[in-house]
Amino acid sequence: MTITAVADQRSAARELRPVVDGAVHLPGEPGYDEHRRPLMPTLDPRPALVVEAVTPADVQAAVRAAREHDLPFSVQATGHGTYVPNDGGLLLKTTAMNTVRIDPHLRIAKVRPGAVWGDVLAAAAPYGLAPLSGSSATVGVTGYTLGGGMGWLARRYGFAADSVLSAEVVTPDGRRVIADSHYNTDLFWALRGGGGNFGVVTSLTFRLYPVAQVYGGISWFPADRAASVLRTYRDWAGSAPDELSTAVVLSRIPDAPSIPEPLRGWRAVGIKAMYTGDAETAEGLLRPLRDAAGPALVDGYRTMAYADAAMGGTPARFFDFFPELGDEVVDTLVHAADRPGGIGPTVEIRHWAGATGRPGPGAGPVSHRGVSFSVIVDQPELSVTDRLRPHGIGGSFRNFLADTSRTATAYTAADWARLREVKRSYDPHNVFHLGHDIPPAA
Ligand SMILES: Cc1cc2nc3c(=O)[nH]c(=O)nc-3n(C[C@H](O)[C@H](O)[C@H](O)COP(=O)(O)OP(=O)(O)OC[C@H]3O[C@@H](n4cnc5c(N)ncnc54)[C@H](O)[C@@H]3O)c2cc1C
Repeated sequence: MTITAVADQRSAARELRPVVDGAVHLPGEPGYDEHRRPLMPTLDPRPALVVEAVTPADVQAAVRAAREHDLPFSVQATGHGTYVPNDGGLLLKTTAMNTVRIDPHLRIAKVRPGAVWGDVLAAAAPYGLAPLSGSSATVGVTGYTLGGGMGWLARRYGFAADSVLSAEVVTPDGRRVIADSHYNTDLFWALRGGGGNFGVVTSLTFRLYPVAQVYGGISWFPADRAASVLRTYRDWAGSAPDELSTAVVLSRIPDAPSIPEPLRGWRAVGIKAMYTGDAETAEGLLRPLRDAAGPALVDGYRTMAYADAAMGGTPARFFDFFPELGDEVVDTLVHAADRPGGIGPTVEIRHWAGATGRPGPGAGPVSHRGVSFSVIVDQPELSVTDRLRPHGIGGSFRNFLADTSRTATAYTAADWARLREVKRSYDPHNVFHLGHDIPPAA
């Protein structure tokens, strides 16, 4: 680091400390190491300073300081979705701003940017209400929602971004604004899928839904039924009601206390399911899949509180959307997973469509709506991806995309062009570029 840069970081810290309520950490000071690291073990960022915001005014001061001192800027709640290290810049932590307020009559939640899904689930459940959360309670509500938000209720109620009613935002030029269907409507559109490229969201208000209990979980079946399950799945999925969300996983049975010891680690076919209704109806709907899968090795479906229904995901080295699962795709996936010695990759085929493909008027830029299936392979061989690619649309989902060189693939061409226009209006100097970058239109 140059002498000028060190002087800049020290003067930014000197200016910020008297005006922010939260702590400011410089390298070598207590708290710096604790707060600078994201969850990604491969990243070792060395920001010039870390600001722990506790109020929207702190956020505003941090954004202004980054601009004035020309410091690269990034914001982090949990570090779950941080893929690019902030070296030499200002890292804004929102973790401490984790207030959640529920209005059970209006069925809405208002959260500060440090809230995680576990906070909202716990606050909403006593009223029989649920947010459109995802597969992990530890993920940040704001990062997840701005990136689209694909959860197990999405086929019924849409992406989490589609349920946002308003956001309070500190814009890259340091203003505090409201974005909703009346004010800053272009910003409101861009935030609901465009991620953290347009400012720091300091509060988010979104709808909750009357879901208290669900029926589902994951059941495991013999691996040699994989082809039969997938062939049935591709034909069956189109008739599944929006209340039923499913995915098929070709993987190892996890080493979990709920699994009988001798079965742990076996290669098997898992069928994940969540139904927002009663067990009997769900079982009736799932019957064709069960028939194709044979007797279960582990029967994991049960009625449970929605808040307990997080089902884990598969990290996506290969991800694409597939309008249909033709024979070549099915055969490639089954063959890829079935490597000698049980060392094949984990493959997950998920059914989307439903309400995700029926956005309301003015809905935000979330991915490629309406496509039937996604396919994830965690450790794909080149030969596998080469065989899959011609059948996919070449798209991705922002929240499942770690490769920041492929951000544009998470959008349709029209949405990408509009996002770049909005970016030019709100952040012409591209202050918010670390991570998934949406460059301002030329
Ligand atoms: C275990 C696990 C399970 C997951 N399951 C799902 C799932 O089921 N469905 C799904 O859609 N996604 C899922 N994800 C992906 C997750 O939604 C993204 O990684 C998301 O970005 C995480 O947000 P965060 O705030 O927790 O992470 P952070 O790393 O803290 O933030 C990630 C990014 O979000 C943006 N951001 C965060 N806070 C703000 C803010 N206040 N203002 C503006 N921008 C902000 C910034 O661009 C930041 O770089 C999962 C991730 C993990 C690790």
